[in-house]
Amino acid sequence: MKMKRAALFTAALLATAGLGLAGAPAGYNAWFTDKALRIDLYQVGDAAGESLTIDAIYGEPLWPETRTALVDPFGYGRYVLKVYDVASNTLIYSRGFDTMYAEYKTTTPALEGAKRVFQRSLRFPEPKRPVLFVVEARDKKNLLHPIFSRTIDPADYHIIREPAAAGDWIYEPAVAGDPRTTLDLVFLAEGYAAAGKDKFKADVDRMTRTLFETEPYRNAKGRISVRAVFRPSPEASMDEPRQRAYRKTVLAASFNAFDLDRYMLIERDHLMHEIAAQVPYDAIIVLVDSARYGGGSIAFDYCVTTTDHARSLEVFLHEMGHSFGGLADEYYASEVSYNDFYPKGVEPFEPNITALLDPANVKWKDLLSPGIGVPTEYGKSEQEALMAERQARRKAAAEEVAQAKKKGSAATAVKAIEDKAAADDKILQARIAAIRLKYEGLMDKVGVFEGAGYAAKGLYRPQIVCIMIGNPKREFCAVCRKAIADMIDYFAAPAAR
Ligand SMILES: [Zn+2]
Repeated sequence: MKMKRAALFTAALLATAGLGLAGAPAGYNAWFTDKALRIDLYQVGDAAGESLTIDAIYGEPLWPETRTALVDPFGYGRYVLKVYDVASNTLIYSRGFDTMYAEYKTTTPALEGAKRVFQRSLRFPEPKRPVLFVVEARDKKNLLHPIFSRTIDPADYHIIREPAAAGDWIYEPAVAGDPRTTLDLVFLAEGYAAAGKDKFKADVDRMTRTLFETEPYRNAKGRISVRAVFRPSPEASMDEPRQRAYRKTVLAASFNAFDLDRYMLIERDHLMHEIAAQVPYDAIIVLVDSARYGGGSIAFDYCVTTTDHARSLEVFLHEMGHSFGGLADEYYASEVSYNDFYPKGVEPFEPNITALLDPANVKWKDLLSPGIGVPTEYGKSEQEALMAERQARRKAAAEEVAQAKKKGSAATAVKAIEDKAAADDKILQARIAAIRLKYEGLMDKVGVFEGAGYAAKGLYRPQIVCIMIGNPKREFCAVCRKAIADMIDYFAAPAAR
C-alpha cells in the first residue's frame, strides 16, 4: 500500500516537474548545497493591498525538507515561493504557503482600511549560485501574480550564519532516520514556566502517542521523527485579551486572534523559526500550557494548541490537519469573522472541500463510494428545518412562561405551559433522530455532502464526519487521510540523486 502510493506520487511529481523544468538538468545536487536559507519577511497591508519586504536572511545548517519534489506538486496556499537560478532563468524550487495576513485581509478592520504588519519566515534549500527569490499571491480566482522579488547571492556576507544552538533543552522522543528522508516534526514550548519542563515532556509524549494512533500517521510511523525544544517562559499560559489577561511568554501566543473567541495565533513568527532551527524540522507544533479550549494554525507554517482541555488532542489533530495537510475546515455556520473567505464560483485549492463546479469530475472522484449520489442527499435541509423549528418553539415557550409569571398566573398554569413545551420538544427531537437514523448507512461512505468551509450552501465535504468538521471518534475522512499521506510522502521521499 505504502509502495503503491509512493509510486503514484512520484509519477505526479515527474509530470509537474516536466512542465516547470523542461530542459533543465535534474537533481537537487545540481542546484543546492546540503544547507538551507531562512528568509524573515514582513508583510503589511489591508484588504485593498499588501507589500512584502525582507528583514533578514539566515543560514541554517541543514535542508531537512524534500529533495525530490523541488517544484511544488500540490498547488495549495494563498501564496507561492519561487526560486529561479539567475544565470539560466530556471525555476529550481517552489512551495505554496500561507500567512497570517492572508486571514487578516478578509476581516472587517482590513476591509475598512486598517493596515497591519505580520511576520513570516520562509525557507528554501541554499542555492549554489545567485537566485531570484519571488513571492506570488493568488487573486480571488486563485490565479497567481508576483508581488515581490529580490536577487539573493548565497555568497553575500549579509546572510547571518550564526550557530542555531541557543542553549534550549532538546528532547527527541522519536527519531526515524536521516532528516533528509523522514518527516521531522518539532514541538515548541510556549507559556511553560521553568518548572514546567517535565510537564512539557509529558505533553509532547501524549500528543505524539495520539498522532501515532491516528491514520494516516499511524501507517507512516517508521518515517516520522519527533523532536521538541523547551524554552521556559517568565509566566505560564497565554494572553486572553477579552479577559484582559496578559502573560509574559516566549512567543506571545494570544487568544482572540482577529477578535475570535477560541482562536489562538502567534505573531512572533521569526522568533518561532529561530527557536525551531535548533533541530531539523519540516513542521512546527506549538504547545501552550493551559487548560483553556482552543488553538489555531497558519497553513505550512505552524499549528498551536493548549494542552489540558478535554478536547486538546482533537484540537491538535485538527489544527495540524490545516498546518501540515493543507486541509480546509469542513464545518459551517459557525462564528468565523471571514467575509467571502471562499468566493462563489471558484474551486478552493484545499483537497477536502469542493464548490462542485463540475459534478461529473469530483475532486476526490477516485475515493467516492460506488453508486453514491453527487451531491449526496443526507437529510440536511429536513434536519436543519426541524432544528430551526425547535429553537423557535423553545424561545416562544420561554416567552409564554415569562408572560404568565408577569401576569401572576398560578404555578400550575405555568407548569402546564412548560410541560406542553417539553412534550413538543421531545416530538421534534424524535423526528430529528429519525432522519439521522434514515441516513445512518452513509456514515462510512465517501460522497459529496453539502456544508463545508464556513458555508452551509455551495461548498461540499467528502464524508459526514471527519476531524476537520468534528468527529467524536477522532478519525479523518478518507479524503483527508489521503491528503495527509501524500504530504508525508512529500517530506519523507527517498534520497535525491
Ligand atoms: Zn475530512
